[in-house]
Amino acid sequence: MAKTVVGLAMSSTMFEGDVIISRKVISADQAKEIISSREIVSCFNRSHETTIEALRTRFEIEVEIPEVAPKVTLMPGDTLIVLSARFSRRLNEGERFSIEEVNSANFEFVEYTIDRKLTCGNCGKVFHFSERSNTHEECADCPWCGWDNPV
Ligand SMILES: [Zn+2]
Repeated sequence: MAKTVVGLAMSSTMFEGDVIISRKVISADQAKEIISSREIVSCFNRSHETTIEALRTRFEIEVEIPEVAPKVTLMPGDTLIVLSARFSRRLNEGERFSIEEVNSANFEFVEYTIDRKLTCGNCGKVFHFSERSNTHEECADCPWCGWDNPV
């Protein structure tokens, strides 16, 4: 099953090996729609409480904060929604943004979708995971010859 992960930032540790990521800026309403209509994996954590609070009060976006941060690996077909505040300055070590700063920050909502290039061992053609000829998440049939084991 393809999954949808929601977080406040993207991290390189969310990926393994070579993948292709497409990035799309979405509106707060689109983010809200995705979050409310799908079963999501939340990467929110309490150390960003003021940002989470601003998402709730300014955009009515509510995401559960898990007790234990999940270990997430984004695979082809998965989606990552990043809800990030953009501040005009960087924090110093140990410092936090004030409520005033969070409330005046610009927020950006981005949908990342994960793709991967596969090479068919039968016909040799290269295609994107999203172009596979069937829709089973775990299979990736070649769209050209239907061979079922491209890598
Ligand atoms: Zn093929």
